[in-house]
Amino acid sequence: ATPTALMVGTGRGAQLGILIRGPEVLESTRRVDTVVLDKTGTVTTGRMTLQAVYAAEDADEKQVLRLAGALEHASEHPVARAIAVAAEERGGTLPEAEGFESMPGRGVRGRVEGHEVTVGRLFDELPKELARAKDEAERHGRTAVVVGWDGRARGVLAVADAVKETSAEAVRELRALGLTPVLLTGDNRAVAESVAQAVGIDQVIAEVLPEDKVDVVRRLQGEGRTVAMVGDGVNDAAALAVADLGLAMGTGTDAAIEAGDLTLVRGDLRVAADAIRLSRRTLSTIK
Ligand code: ADP
Ligand code: MG
Repeated sequence: ATPTALMVGTGRGAQLGILIRGPEVLESTRRVDTVVLDKTGTVTTGRMTLQAVYAAEDADEKQVLRLAGALEHASEHPVARAIAVAAEERGGTLPEAEGFESMPGRGVRGRVEGHEVTVGRLFDELPKELARAKDEAERHGRTAVVVGWDGRARGVLAVADAVKETSAEAVRELRALGLTPVLLTGDNRAVAESVAQAVGIDQVIAEVLPEDKVDVVRRLQGEGRTVAMVGDGVNDAAALAVADLGLAMGTGTDAAIEAGDLTLVRGDLRVAADAIRLSRRTLSTIK
């Protein structure tokens, strides 16, 4: 590829809303055959909203939401934002949390009003009524997190995300380019499957811890695939860096943008297909 043609490709990219780290990036997109898509914030909007609150027999819904909201106030996670906003809207000023600690891909913990509170996926066993609530939420494609305090699970919060309007079309375009889409998420399998189905993806890798996302990319590469990864989160940064081509959502975190080779400025997944099309065209005109 001549430098001039690559520079032209770079300029055209900017018009399409693609920021390219360096012209040489376009070269690596040519052989890509697999596109790994992060779920939350990439295929979905990541603007989650609280849909339901369930309390165990020894708790009440107000308290479940209040203690969870107080803790999630300190977290940036989309699930946390939904919970904190709803808790403030419904319960007013939230109590202070102390000793806040975030466990990426699992949840948060800290002390609120004298209780040791956790929110997330931190209990292996749930009382029957909470297990039922969690199953029901997940069957509806919602992310269910468990609220516990003083060593016991006390409630379940169901949070909904929405698939971006453009995601299904983006997946069709990626397939038309001969690429195999794979959905990758830390979220529950049932939720992941429902998003995958909505956008037309049949390969789903769910319940992957943040530190393991990079291993998924490496494993696919080990199978001989050339992998593009599209993501937006702090937990996607390592996978974006290891992928043959890393595409960061411009609407995402700085960590993802810094790790990516390309940035999709508007966070529209269709532009991932534009990027691959552009590089193929750029490279074929130079030959
Ligand atoms: P994703 O891959 O969808 O971006 P993460 O790896 O960030 O998801 O999180 C995976 C799961 O861990 C979430 O679906 C949620 O169940 C739990 N989780 C992570 N952070 C939090 C939090 N701050 N509060 C509650 N649950 C959380
Ligand atoms: Mg994400």
